[in-house]
Amino acid sequence: MAGDDERRGDGGGGGDGHGGFGEAGAAGLPPAPGGTGSGGDELETLIELMARLPGFGPRSARRAALAMVKKRERLLLPLSQALAVVAQSVRNCATCGNVATAEECPICVDPRRDRRLLCVVAEVADLWALERGGAFRGRYHVLGGLLSALDGVTPESLRMPQLAARVAADEVTEVILALPATIDGQTTAHVAAEHLAPTGVQVSQLARGVPVGGDLDYLDDGTLAAALAARQAL
Ligand SMILES: [Zn+2]
Repeated sequence: MAGDDERRGDGGGGGDGHGGFGEAGAAGLPPAPGGTGSGGDELETLIELMARLPGFGPRSARRAALAMVKKRERLLLPLSQALAVVAQSVRNCATCGNVATAEECPICVDPRRDRRLLCVVAEVADLWALERGGAFRGRYHVLGGLLSALDGVTPESLRMPQLAARVAADEVTEVILALPATIDGQTTAHVAAEHLAPTGVQVSQLARGVPVGGDLDYLDDGTLAAALAARQAL
């Protein structure tokens, strides 16, 4: 959260979002006469854009911009080149919806991935989280959101129709629904299962319960009840 980040980053200098004199000096940039610590309009634009990023606020954006200016050759120039390349080539994988810089993402073209297993996630961030875990060796299908009557999100506005088509075409034997344990997440899971029913594929969903290394005492009632219901024989 930007707000948390800003509070953490505030060293008590009475910061109102423009307390950057010391930082600007450290980077060799003189503070602007207006007292904003500005290095000029171009830098201000960069900082304003960076401040819109998740996890950033005005103060952290300023610090990051100044860090880049300090490391012009090692950080700023490679970063600007990487941004330009990604801006030119980034798209959604035609098969799974992951972000990619080619027609298909590296996961979809990897012959070592098990094509019979398909994991359905709401967002690309969820796919990346599962990949970081390294436990899943199948392929993915990114819906691009969750069904929501309130926000007018329908199955057709997600990648729901493509899901059943993929299952039929790719000879998938199991679809794992890795959707959030929220009302919208579970509504989406039920509708996905309905869409998949005609294909006859096995549909499962992630277990709910005690996190690895978790203490029972700290769990909320809903999680404890879910863990009890999903108990396993030893
Ligand atoms: Zn893909």
